Amino acid sequence: MDSNIFSVEGKVTIVTGGGTGIGEYIARRFAEAGAPVVLASRKIENLERVRDQILKDGGKAVALQCDVRKPDDVQQVVDTTVQEFGRIDVLVNNHGASFRCNILDMTPNGWNSVVGINLTGTFLFSRAAGIVMRDQGGGCIINISSTAGLHATPLMAHYGAAKAGVINFTRSLADELAPHNIRVNCIAPGPIVTEGFLEVLRARGEVPKNLGAGLVMNRWGECDEIAYPTLFLASDAASFMTGETIVIDGGGRTNLITGE
Ligand code: NAP
Repeated sequence: MDSNIFSVEGKVTIVTGGGTGIGEYIARRFAEAGAPVVLASRKIENLERVRDQILKDGGKAVALQCDVRKPDDVQQVVDTTVQEFGRIDVLVNNHGASFRCNILDMTPNGWNSVVGINLTGTFLFSRAAGIVMRDQGGGCIINISSTAGLHATPLMAHYGAAKAGVINFTRSLADELAPHNIRVNCIAPGPIVTEGFLEVLRARGEVPKNLGAGLVMNRWGECDEIAYPTLFLASDAASFMTGETIVIDGGGRTNLITGE
């Protein structure tokens, strides 16, 4: 066996939303594996904290403020990455946001905001980084969707629709970019313990007492349980995978809130 087949060493990697939660773990694991990492999101203080930790541990990292809904912000991250590191090997579209609301109470602004971040942001980043990848002869894009994109998602219809869009967009993008040696895959996590997701639930006082109730594995996932499969998708071990969505939900099943 080629012992380097699972390596991402030296692969220049952009992680959106790399300052918190799942994105922070993805960024740290890529950096530990020898990938120069670019962290991009709105809250620069979170990005700088993760960047400083990576630098302290001997890795390479840059923190760039960016709202994925703004094409100029996205282009600036892509341009700066190329200036700093000369290329873009991996893009992880990990950014995401939501709030819980009935469809009949939802404002067009609220809908557009959630779809704009989760879906349009993924399009904007994939387009900007995809052009660089095409011109350099290849690359890899990994989109973080959600099991919310696979089935009805009460009180998060905007999020579910956007994440379903990310899964479909992954397939179209994979198809169009395969001739350019760019692989595009997706991960659909089930419930993962992050402050971000707990905040969405707390906002309506809905954090269940037993987080794992009703789930096949009787627990929520940990951030590393998404980070390591992301490393795999970026490595040459996944060289014949494109357009695919990997569901990582501990066996699945359930209403996230009631556990039923
Ligand atoms: P999180 O910590 O809240 O992560 C979301 C990240 O997205 C934040 O770092 C945030 O950074 C960034 N972001 C939000 N809006 C943005 C914008 N307009 N521009 C740039 N960045 C933006 O929550 P998480 O649970 O780790 O979520 C990470 C990803 O996993 C998301 O795509 C989420 O939908 C998905 N996911 C999570 C779960 C779960 O149970 N935790 C389940 C399925 C899927 P800033 O605030 O600094 O912008």
